[in-house]
Amino acid sequence: MERSHRSCLKYIQALPRRTKTDIVNSLIGSPTLESHIDKNKLRFLGQLCILPGNKIVKIVFLNRLTSYFDNPSVSRGFIPDIVRIMRKYNVFNILETFVESGFFPNKYSWKQSIKKHVMEYETVKWRERTTSNSSGVLSDYRMVHDSLSTFNLWTLSLANRHLIHECRSAVYLIGRYFSDTRHIQCHMCGFSSDNIILHYLYECTYSESHRHTFWRELQLKCGHELFRKFTSLSIYMQITVIFSSDSNPLQAAEAELMQLAVVCLRYVHIIRALFKVQMHV
Ligand SMILES: [Zn+2]
Repeated sequence: MERSHRSCLKYIQALPRRTKTDIVNSLIGSPTLESHIDKNKLRFLGQLCILPGNKIVKIVFLNRLTSYFDNPSVSRGFIPDIVRIMRKYNVFNILETFVESGFFPNKYSWKQSIKKHVMEYETVKWRERTTSNSSGVLSDYRMVHDSLSTFNLWTLSLANRHLIHECRSAVYLIGRYFSDTRHIQCHMCGFSSDNIILHYLYECTYSESHRHTFWRELQLKCGHELFRKFTSLSIYMQITVIFSSDSNPLQAAEAELMQLAVVCLRYVHIIRALFKVQMHV
């Protein structure tokens, strides 16, 4: 089920087949499928706790709950499962309070609390995995997108539908750029690169004319000052800006940054089209 969920998230974002799961999930701002299931179980618990006391379901639930607290080792089924989930997301104290005093948060507060605690847990786990990644690819990726929230190019494409294809191309290249299979030989110029996407964008003779157009457009449309700031960044920082439209290192006016994003996105879209056949190898 988890595998099908991952495939769906890859498919709807048109990402390469081998894109790392932590990249796939973070681009769309989705935690694991397990956490979605846990959230629904926690919501169900909330519905049981706020039922009126005369309902049969509530009476059975309270009996099971009391039996569990009297002797946790012999209890099986929903109660021990929900206790494990509550401990996992650090909300077990809410169940303890309910058992002691009968108090449980209202429907809205409980929903918000579940959302907050589950996202906190998932974010901590995501950060741990991306930091300890042995190849270093995932910690590099965090330069482009450092959270489990919707990637800014997806947000940009929602507000600017005419840029959807460009945004999809940029996201696709991110999947290829931050992968363990990026060391390949270019079929167009024969050059062997540690990172083939960097080669396509900056080095390949086959894309040279498009690269010149890109630099010219950047200078014409973004103004001299922003162009100067952009070109003074290291190549790796430039790639971060190209892929994410991240304005942080540039500190320019919003309209200028938007122009920069459009020029960068059009360039990556051309590069993707130019090397499409190679990239699917
Ligand atoms: Zn090449």
